[in-house]
Amino acid sequence: MKDSSLRLVLISTPIGALGSGRGGGVELTLRSLVQGLVGRQHQLTLVAPRGSERPQGCDAVELLEVDGVDQPSWQHASEAASVEIPRNAVLPRLLDVALQRADKADALLNFGYDWLPLWITPHIQQPLFHLISMGAVTTVMGEAIEALGRWDQRRLAFHTARQASDFTLPNLPCVVGNGFDLQAYRFQPAENGPLGWAGRIAPEKGLEDAAAAAAALGDRLLVWGLREDEVYAAAVESAVPPGTIEWRGFLSTEDLQRDLGACRALINTPKWNEAYGNVVVEAMACGVPVIAYDRGGPGELIVPGENGLLVPPDDVSALAESIRRCGEIDRYACRHWAERHASQDVFSGRVEAWIRAGLAADGNITAMQ
Ligand code: UDP
Repeated sequence: MKDSSLRLVLISTPIGALGSGRGGGVELTLRSLVQGLVGRQHQLTLVAPRGSERPQGCDAVELLEVDGVDQPSWQHASEAASVEIPRNAVLPRLLDVALQRADKADALLNFGYDWLPLWITPHIQQPLFHLISMGAVTTVMGEAIEALGRWDQRRLAFHTARQASDFTLPNLPCVVGNGFDLQAYRFQPAENGPLGWAGRIAPEKGLEDAAAAAAALGDRLLVWGLREDEVYAAAVESAVPPGTIEWRGFLSTEDLQRDLGACRALINTPKWNEAYGNVVVEAMACGVPVIAYDRGGPGELIVPGENGLLVPPDDVSALAESIRRCGEIDRYACRHWAERHASQDVFSGRVEAWIRAGLAADGNITAMQ
């Protein structure tokens, strides 16, 4: 018997309108998932900050735009930071609008990495699920995720097992990976292109190590991404010989895949427990092998010898040595890996299975601590 279609209310990140780029990797995740779920015939309502755009080809999705002030990001908060909800905040309003729609829905699915949606989950009748987009950034967020896991872990999913390992959970985590509109990424066979690096220009992304490895090889490094931290960007540039780094700015997916696809390798050097690493798979989708630190999501996505090489974290000499060997990787194998493991359809299928399992489950309600 074919499963019936689900009616889902998706709650966007409370940081930036969808399409603004301020939501980081979550924007691409959400866009891709909406397209994938629509393709699987589900009925969706998307609740998002004012100015958000519907993903392409998703005109049938109901979009409810909500006014309000952005949440501060947890990304750069100190370990002991407190929960903060600004005056006129968009976050409670997103929840308010989503809950008003909930009676007609089978489930609600939250994409914001924040305390309030997690805390409220056991207190409401409507089934609210959370796709967690970062590791345990700050104690209070780690504790909120773990508390919900103790109440009913079926409400939580993660992008990778490495990300989930930041949390103490009663059961094995539900890992859904991530998904991409692979038609938007063109395979490029060229093996002699430049070295590339892509991501937010911020300390946790470790650009300085990729630049140092490129410099050790006497090579240049093309860099794409949002300059989130100008002081850090200047420090990275001044630590390597002039001309090593070529800043290429923040590009649209269409332009990024065209330039990234011409690279002989993407270097990925996270200093934090990266939840997934979208750019890793975007590069593979273009046929570009990835040389990455064996840390966080990239350490789980890379199958050494098949779609890239893994290097002990923070070892710049080993990184340079592995970059020399990037020609050993078959570029078609990189693309095939992305098709098998990270297509929109594979991802939305995993998310659907997670929600269905959570809805089918009996209550597992114990006291929240
Ligand atoms: N990105 C982009 N244009 C650029 C560089 C990056 O659109 O010039 C996007 C990229 O496609 C990816 C996101 O920025 O979706 C970065 O996500 P990732 O998971 O790599 O890191 P995050 O910023 O979420 O930590």
